[in-house]
Amino acid sequence: MTDVRDLLDRVSAPDGDGRPIHDPATGEVIGNAPEATVAELDAAIARARAAQPAWEALGHEARSAALNAAADAVDARAEELARLLSREQGKPLNGPNARFEVGACSAWLRTNAALRLEPEVLVDDGETHAELHYRAVGVVGAIGPWNWPLMIAVWQLAPALRMGNTVVVKPSEYTPLSVLALVDVLNEALPADALIAVSGGRDVGARLASHPDIDKVMFTGSTATGRRIIESSAGNLARLTLELGGNDAGIVLPGTDATAIAQDLFWGAFINTGQTCAALKRLYVHDSVYDEVVEALAEVAKATPMGNGLDEDNVLGPLQNRQQFDIVNRLVEDAKTHGARIVTGGSPATELGELFYPITLVADIADGVALVDEEQFGPALPIIRYTDVEDAIASANRLDVGLGGSVWGPDRDEARRIAARIESGTVWINSHGGVHPMIPFGGVKGSGYGVEFGVEGLKAVAVPRVING
Ligand code: NDP
Repeated sequence: MTDVRDLLDRVSAPDGDGRPIHDPATGEVIGNAPEATVAELDAAIARARAAQPAWEALGHEARSAALNAAADAVDARAEELARLLSREQGKPLNGPNARFEVGACSAWLRTNAALRLEPEVLVDDGETHAELHYRAVGVVGAIGPWNWPLMIAVWQLAPALRMGNTVVVKPSEYTPLSVLALVDVLNEALPADALIAVSGGRDVGARLASHPDIDKVMFTGSTATGRRIIESSAGNLARLTLELGGNDAGIVLPGTDATAIAQDLFWGAFINTGQTCAALKRLYVHDSVYDEVVEALAEVAKATPMGNGLDEDNVLGPLQNRQQFDIVNRLVEDAKTHGARIVTGGSPATELGELFYPITLVADIADGVALVDEEQFGPALPIIRYTDVEDAIASANRLDVGLGGSVWGPDRDEARRIAARIESGTVWINSHGGVHPMIPFGGVKGSGYGVEFGVEGLKAVAVPRVING
């Protein structure tokens, strides 16, 4: 079995130093997160600032080559990174989980290496010749969450590095070791100080967002923290990309074959045990197919194993932390008091471990109940019955978030017409949550602003410069 000791030795603080990090499946301590001070963060930003001009001056070809070499380094350590991620985050090795996440890191690095952001000719009319060029912003602060800690770090750092920025990464307090290990591996291929990871407490995150030498903040996390980062940007005028989660609705239309969509619906909702920003979090199903859809989802739930992520059979894991477990538990208990019907699950799976909560399908529930209106970010899905599709569209749009959404049905044109009326950054048809390194991804309303991925993602970590004449 692949050992993660080498990676841990590279990044973990010595015993008695740092903050113990627990495996959410077993409660075991797996390592100690170094706790940087604000002064150490300041020193890291100064190093990144000093390294930036030379990194940008290397040019596109050399930076692309470095990103490809960094992807090679990830591939060479893929199994170790996946095992460390599984132990720290809780997600299983198999399924769309730890190995998949490490593979996505490599894919995103390579795609960004291959992207081109060419200058555009804006006006060329014989009198005026104006071109739009893009250059690096400067130093990018990357602040990430605990649900997809490696993949989201790469979503932030790969385009930023590609454009010639240097990057300071601040991992979530819950998953620092795997992010530190990833950055250590990437740094086998990158010049000194182009990419620095600093793990520390809230003061370190807040300082990174407000630091006068940070030019751009890439943030993925809660809406509350996003608002604080916006406030900080009034001080340093940092440009922001904010990905703040959501409460994605799915609409299942009449005539849908429940059995045919059940697997995709299930994984749309329960990928990473529901701890995914663009997961399906409210499912609106037409009365004519409601019972079939609920039953088909229950069949998939029963057949999908949950448990310790290192067990090759499991594809669902624990909640990553107590805070998230308590949110899910509270929302399900509240749904019960409102008369909702628990189809599967419905109470903690303590026989598996303290932070396990089973797949919980909640039927006969309505808008206004907290499990529908609040982001559960876990394995509990409210399934709401509707009879008029106009009501389902109104329900999908009634909340102040809009990251993703989906429409499911046999008629693609009809589904596309409904998709055009959903207020979210992405609407999928007959699937939910798939992302692609060439397709821009971002939210509207309370889900944040700015997009990641593709050429639009490069523009988000660049500043325009017009050459006129
Ligand atoms: P937070 O928004 O609190 O944390 C996200 C990141 O921001 C972490 O790295 C955190 O560091 C950092 N941070 C916290 N406070 C500040 C600050 N003032 N300035 C700068 N950075 C800061 O999310 P949580 O992890 O607490 O999760 C809370 C909720 O957020 C979840 O219940 C879920 O609903 C949502 N969420 C959404 C995600 C998404 O994909 N959009 C991902 C994860 C959570 P530290 O960990 O050290 O506090």
